[in-house]
Amino acid sequence: MLWRGVIMHLPAMFSTDLAIDLGTANTCVFVQGRGIVLNEPSIVAFNTVRGQVEAVGQEAHEMLGRTPPNIRPVRPLRDGVIADFDATEKMLVHFVRKAMGRAAWKRPRLVIGVPSEITEVERRAVRDSGFRVKASEVHLVDEPMAAAIGAGLPVTEAAGNMVIDIGGGTTDIAVISMAGTVYGRSLRVAGDAMDDAIMTYMRKTFSLHIGERTAQQIKFEIGSAMPLDEPMQMDVKGRHVAEGVPRIVTVNDCDIRAALAEPLRQIVQAVRESLERVPPELSADIYDRGVVLTGGGALLRNLDRRLHDETGLPVLVAENPLTSVVLGAGMMLTDFALLRKVSAN
Ligand code: ADP
Ligand code: MG
Repeated sequence: MLWRGVIMHLPAMFSTDLAIDLGTANTCVFVQGRGIVLNEPSIVAFNTVRGQVEAVGQEAHEMLGRTPPNIRPVRPLRDGVIADFDATEKMLVHFVRKAMGRAAWKRPRLVIGVPSEITEVERRAVRDSGFRVKASEVHLVDEPMAAAIGAGLPVTEAAGNMVIDIGGGTTDIAVISMAGTVYGRSLRVAGDAMDDAIMTYMRKTFSLHIGERTAQQIKFEIGSAMPLDEPMQMDVKGRHVAEGVPRIVTVNDCDIRAALAEPLRQIVQAVRESLERVPPELSADIYDRGVVLTGGGALLRNLDRRLHDETGLPVLVAENPLTSVVLGAGMMLTDFALLRKVSAN
């Protein structure tokens, strides 16, 4: 009995099958039997003089805004499309090798979550990159579908499940029933647009020039979609636009809500329009079951309340919004039936 147990588990013990979330902001890798082993920014820094990759992921992220002219940081999937094939491939290869470590000689099966709007040519490019790292099989799944599965939605039931995945480059709204996407929409307004809006606001209102990383930090620390119970504020360092000298400005949550008004309005509007376009039976399901928010944007304070107030729907934030996609893709590594149903290959 014991032996049988051991033998049955051998494939799992030696498996190096990987699930990858190729996000516009972050790439996560899940190894079957080990869980999430890697979660790094989707960035590649190229050295333009030597024509080679200088750094990938976290290391490349730390260079952002601080690079000499010969280092060019690239976010290959920035807007939910593959802007740079070469960088995407280099990044994927780097992360797969890193995740596999000493098991790099094995031929993994890969399930890769890709932005829902990428073209057939882009899909082929991702698939080819997978085979280039010696994968034995490469399956592509749409990120909103993987997010819904990872968030625990019963996607195979004949009922409408709505997921809103707010990432870096895109907000993806999907209604899923019977393992298929009944309605899907990808809006190019998400976390990056919020950061841009904060940068613009700081420049216009306080004449303060700040970088992307600072804008993101402000969003994390005091950003919100509706008034907070406790007011918040923080000191922001930047450069005075006209004088060019370093300056510190104190901003509060109200300022940042004003800054975020437009991107948030667009997200709310897209959700409303989506609800209008869903077939009536499914929208009745959604009104009963509610909507699940995934992606890093789901962590913006009070965004769930705002969406609830504006749509009347119950809104839940997934337990692990930043890793829903990779967990969903990871579940498909062991559930072939589901994989076959939802795989976009
Ligand atoms: P993607 O799937 O596109 O790679 P993620 O789901 O990883 O994106 O989410 C990244 C986005 O979420 C970034 O724009 C990041 O700034 C934002 N984000 C992460 N944490 C928070 C937070 N606590 N509050 C607001 N936004 C957040
Ligand atoms: Mg994502």
